Amino acid sequence: MSIRYLKEILREGKHIVCLLGREAAAQNGGVFYQRDFSYDIESKYGMSPDEIFSTTYFHNRPQEFFRFYREEVLMKRAEPTGVHSVLKRMQDDGKLSAIITRGFFNASQKAGCTNVIHLYGTVDDNRCPHCGEKYSAEYILEHRPIPKCEKCGTMIHPGVILAGEMLDSSVVTNAAEAISCADTLLVVGCNLASRLGSLARYFNGNKIALVNTIEHYTDRRADCVCIGPSLEDILTGAYPEAEPESEITEADGTRKTDKERDKK
Ligand SMILES: [Zn+2]
Repeated sequence: MSIRYLKEILREGKHIVCLLGREAAAQNGGVFYQRDFSYDIESKYGMSPDEIFSTTYFHNRPQEFFRFYREEVLMKRAEPTGVHSVLKRMQDDGKLSAIITRGFFNASQKAGCTNVIHLYGTVDDNRCPHCGEKYSAEYILEHRPIPKCEKCGTMIHPGVILAGEMLDSSVVTNAAEAISCADTLLVVGCNLASRLGSLARYFNGNKIALVNTIEHYTDRRADCVCIGPSLEDILTGAYPEAEPESEITEADGTRKTDKERDKK
């Protein structure tokens, strides 16, 4: 674990792309991504989340599907945390070009991050598969049992890509392009063999930095590896907030910052 090396890499990176994995979401209360979620769902529904959150189940048992989507997904949204705040600061400093994530709760955008590529869509972009009309998460929550399009009456499709469905090829192409233009790849909360982490194959830049909670044999492909229980602590340590400029009161009573005094 070398936070000092990570700090150096993040300081030197000018076009950083972040692959933000599920562990980052699990750590901020994103129940959907936590390890005991599958167990809880199996005991409640008699099926695994992957079986329920699938295109087959959606079409065959829409009423049960939407109960699950409302109660287990929409009402247990993951909220942004310190990891997202660090990414927001990197964006404000003009260093972060894009965030690519499997997460579908829009947590990065809630933290103020722009240019977020959601490989699996988001819970806020529910859509009518017939006419293309968009519907918010609130609309799905309010229209029970099966939410239908107001324009054409078709059952609305959730904004998230379900098991058994293809990823949107234009979204994958955007992600690959962003990665191929980056000088630094910051992989957070997943390993390089995961579906998200394997996008590192498009990277042609200088340094791959990996921050995760557990080690994996593919970590050796990264230039810098930081493993620790809190992703937030590692990232905050490696990309600390800038010290506020200290103000000094001049002899004439005016307050000036160090920089202003240096100009004199
Ligand atoms: Zn419609």
